[in-house]
Amino acid sequence: IKNIGVFTSGGDAPGMNASLYAIIKAASLKNITITGIWQGYDGMVDASFTHLHPKNLAPHVHQGGTIIKTSRSPRFLTLKGRIKAAKNLKKAKIDALIAIGGDGTFRGLMALKEICDIPTIGIPGTIDNDMMGTDYTLGFDSAVNTAINAIDNIRDTAESHNRIFLVEVMGRDSGYIAINSGLCTAADGILIPESKKDQVLLLNKLQHFKNRESLIIVVAEGDETGAIVMAEKIKAINKKVDVRITILGHIQRGGNPTAFDRLLGIRLGVAALDEVLKGTTNVMAGLLNNKITFTPFEKVVKQHKVQTELKELVELFSR
Ligand code: ATP
Repeated sequence: IKNIGVFTSGGDAPGMNASLYAIIKAASLKNITITGIWQGYDGMVDASFTHLHPKNLAPHVHQGGTIIKTSRSPRFLTLKGRIKAAKNLKKAKIDALIAIGGDGTFRGLMALKEICDIPTIGIPGTIDNDMMGTDYTLGFDSAVNTAINAIDNIRDTAESHNRIFLVEVMGRDSGYIAINSGLCTAADGILIPESKKDQVLLLNKLQHFKNRESLIIVVAEGDETGAIVMAEKIKAINKKVDVRITILGHIQRGGNPTAFDRLLGIRLGVAALDEVLKGTTNVMAGLLNNKITFTPFEKVVKQHKVQTELKELVELFSR
């Protein structure tokens, strides 16, 4: 293996640039060429390639996003698109791939394998942290810290008034960001998709809410209703309360990666490079119990990981 194609795909996540930097730096020390593929699978379909040098990445390790850009590529979902991509890889003499992305990205690599037999390794990059085969995905720690900073700011206003603040955080179908940011900000309620009784318990509690204090409720975007409908439900049972909604949205996706995400990106990047050079294929590099592990894509994409460790704390602190 002499020339490895790297790309970022799906949603961007803080730590992707750090991981790219580590791959390129480690590769340059082994005289391996790294070809950057612009904008995920779209760049593969369009033969949009660039040579990457560690100097290109070093100034961006501290930045969120991905300097080689990312995309969701409908064209790569078609066999025609994948055949074109495979031909472009061959023409550019790319003989292995490292992809940073979510489970969709790894499904893409599994589909590519059917028509193009080059080794491929994945690195988990998504703020949602719901991927099997790793305790942490790139970007999760940064997103939680961004959410915490925002909720801390809301807390100042909350303590100055008597209101209910609903703060909606990201995470798609997963409660990871809500659980972690809610616990760290002493939220009075945490609503997550994984719990069926949390809304009922909260609404019972709010029936007797006397408007003499403020409450902060963190709502996962994938929860049964989301913050807007939840606010209506609260007003329906207690007309006197003043409810305010903040939807944090995409501010959680950007921002400088935390030390944890930079190091995770660097560790997984170097490990992925070493492993792909051995010819290992169709696996994702991850961190389990602080040890680098490699999990086959089939296992990674089978189901989403659910946070179980902190659920008892969430129930305890939501009372
Ligand atoms: P995120 O977790 O941020 O959503 P992701 O990698 O899961 O990241 P997706 O949009 O699901 O994001 O997938 C990225 C791209 O991978 C898709 O746009 C598509 O081009 C490709 N892809 C996904 N699933 C398949 C598949 N079954 N076959 C071929 N390509 C796929």
